[in-house]
Amino acid sequence: MTERVFNFNPGPSTLPLEVLETVQAELLDYRGTGMSIMESSHRSPAYDAVNEEAMALARELMGLGDDYHILFMGGGASSQFALVPLNFLRAGTVGAYVDTGTWSAKAIGEANIVGDLHGGASVLAGSSRDDGYTFIPQQDALEIPDNAAYLHITTNNTIKGTQYHYVPETGDVPLIADMSSDICSRPLDHTRFAMLYAGAQKNLGPAGVTLVAIRDDLLQRCRDGLPSMFDYRTHAAKKSRYNTPPSLSVYIVKLVLEWIKKQGGLAAVAETNRQKQERIYQLLDADPDFFRGTAEPRNSRSWMNITMRLPSEALERKFIAEAAAAGLVGLKGHRSVGGIRFSIYNAMPLAGVIKVTEFMAKFRAAHA
Ligand code: PMP
Repeated sequence: MTERVFNFNPGPSTLPLEVLETVQAELLDYRGTGMSIMESSHRSPAYDAVNEEAMALARELMGLGDDYHILFMGGGASSQFALVPLNFLRAGTVGAYVDTGTWSAKAIGEANIVGDLHGGASVLAGSSRDDGYTFIPQQDALEIPDNAAYLHITTNNTIKGTQYHYVPETGDVPLIADMSSDICSRPLDHTRFAMLYAGAQKNLGPAGVTLVAIRDDLLQRCRDGLPSMFDYRTHAAKKSRYNTPPSLSVYIVKLVLEWIKKQGGLAAVAETNRQKQERIYQLLDADPDFFRGTAEPRNSRSWMNITMRLPSEALERKFIAEAAAAGLVGLKGHRSVGGIRFSIYNAMPLAGVIKVTEFMAKFRAAHA
């Protein structure tokens, strides 16, 4: 077998080795069933337990009570961009959005499509678009209209490397967050969110499943008359088994949640994440002419995706190629922005970050 590399891909992304080993060990015979979990019925006792345990762990780690429904849905976070306005936007209301990057903008685009169908529209409660999405608008810059059905934010902007370091105050307006790229990476008062969702493929597991946590009072506001699969109440009532769920992905999400718990929960993974980001940003701050960080340093830097440019595109290509040759892969920035991106989700060990910072220091010495 080739040696495992340090995988800095933004998603699908690295998974804890222990989790992969468990998957491997249980693959052919899942706990005495004589079959793998992916061959089991999604109504079998084996999958019942997986589903229940995954929901319970998600609640436990995020500090959510029984008033939150945990859903495992298909269609990626991108489907949630449409489902949120489909369920909650109504004529006479607006979906308020903070536009902090490509994924926020996509969510806004879907709200406008739904608005044309059903009434209502999106409004911007805040934006950093005019500044190239380099920062997160702070609380005092937010304007949330009284007729907002919800405020939608993107807690971590995977492409631009920015992250909220506060939870917006929204008064009576339900707060909804796309947490795809930072879910379960730090302690937060998750009860401040009426709903949160995340595609699993960064911090939670493999692609194919989206975790949704939705508070019951918001669930009760879903629009009537939607097709069953598009109505959150269907998935809540059937505990994510109205139709065949992505059972293999849910099983691996369960293993990742167990792994997080074993690390000591969100506070413990956040401490490792703090050390990881600090090592990389220290290099950026030590030589900002060479390592040109793209996110506003004061209050917007992401702990999950660190983005930078080098003095030339030729150097960036060389950096990416030489890093890959050294077993550090997936460092290319998103195709829409170029540059370098270090995706250092929960499962990236500190050792990977130490290795990449050593590489950075050597690269700088050779080329600055
Ligand atoms: N939101 C964010 C913040 C993302 O980073 C991504 C994917 N990179 C998405 C949404 C879209 O997720 P999916 O591919 O699961 O639809």
